[in-house]
Amino acid sequence: MIPVNEPVLGPREMECVTDALRSGWISSAGSYIDAFERNWAAYCGRRHGVAVSNGTTALQVAARALGLGPGDEVIMPTFTIVSCALAVVETGAVPVLVDSEPRTWGMDVAKLEALVTPRTKAIMVVHIYGHPVDMDPVLALAERHGLAVIEDAAEVHGAEYLSGRGGPNPVWRRCGGFGDVSTFSFYANKIVTTGEGGMVLTDDDAVAARLRSLRNLCFRPDRRFLHDELGYNYRLTNLQAAIGVAQIERIGETIAAKRRIAALYDERLGNLPGLQLPAAEEWVRHVYWMYGLVLDESLGIDAADMMARLKARGVEARPFFLGMHEQPVFHARGLFRDDRHPVAERIARQGFYLPSGAGLTEDQIDTVAEAVRESLR
Ligand SMILES: *Cc1c(COP(=O)(O)O)cnc(C)c1O
Repeated sequence: MIPVNEPVLGPREMECVTDALRSGWISSAGSYIDAFERNWAAYCGRRHGVAVSNGTTALQVAARALGLGPGDEVIMPTFTIVSCALAVVETGAVPVLVDSEPRTWGMDVAKLEALVTPRTKAIMVVHIYGHPVDMDPVLALAERHGLAVIEDAAEVHGAEYLSGRGGPNPVWRRCGGFGDVSTFSFYANKIVTTGEGGMVLTDDDAVAARLRSLRNLCFRPDRRFLHDELGYNYRLTNLQAAIGVAQIERIGETIAAKRRIAALYDERLGNLPGLQLPAAEEWVRHVYWMYGLVLDESLGIDAADMMARLKARGVEARPFFLGMHEQPVFHARGLFRDDRHPVAERIARQGFYLPSGAGLTEDQIDTVAEAVRESLR
């Protein structure tokens, strides 16, 4: 079976983990935590990094640090992982969902303005499968209405966006550097991994202090075991951070591998009818976190059929997200029952992604492409 993803770990990861182990700093203090936060913030062009236990907890502390609460609305894509919606719902705020844009599958920024109400407090941007969302209109809208921006950059480590295109000074900016806070997951299938792990980045000193406090049970700085509010234990360990330090060193190679894999798939699958391949707008530098495909409905098969056929040929695949507005757990809370988001509904049924691990060989890619071709016949 060709797996959908496998992390690439080498001698440098071993060396850093062994060093952390030898040092005795195996919990959440230690030099690798500091280096991991510093290096990742620097890589993304931010002032502060706050490492947490995973990408979900990163979203949770980000939502809390921005002061979201009952009565607030947060505009966010329906097509994403549940972590995004749960972080909002948990504060008592209400997610207001927006459909996907059909080429890139990211949130349709043209639909945002119509969703702003006097209650809107924030926009949560989620970049999908390696392709950045069109940030300029989002940031302009947020500025106009005084909204906070949370950027979930879990799927776009190292991706870049051309800001100010059409203007006099367009500039490439790395994802994870936009808005008030950005969040990351370092789960095993992410471009940079620590096994389990996450981080929140911000340029704001006060927000950074709040994030650090929320991550560590909100101990009062002047008196340990005294609390003015409730926080969490969402700390990352120094051992995990040691893997992360080594992973950041190799991110250039990892992204190059992802792009090479995407180019090989493009070449082999580009002439097949009824198959939508990942788009790359000219204003992005895509990192192809996962190589997604969407089957045209005219083919008469859906992603579940296709994934079963691929599995029979030794190829593992994964379905696309199922929109938040189609989730029983939110319907049960009276949320999203009347929402209709036709693009997200279609790609949830017709979309899936192929093996995309940075260690894939060209032979494996040939096998996968051949399996896709045969499965379409
Ligand atoms: C992976 C992912 C998360 C969740 O991260 P975990 O580390 O698994 O909790 C959140 N948002 C997006 C967009 C993701 O892809």
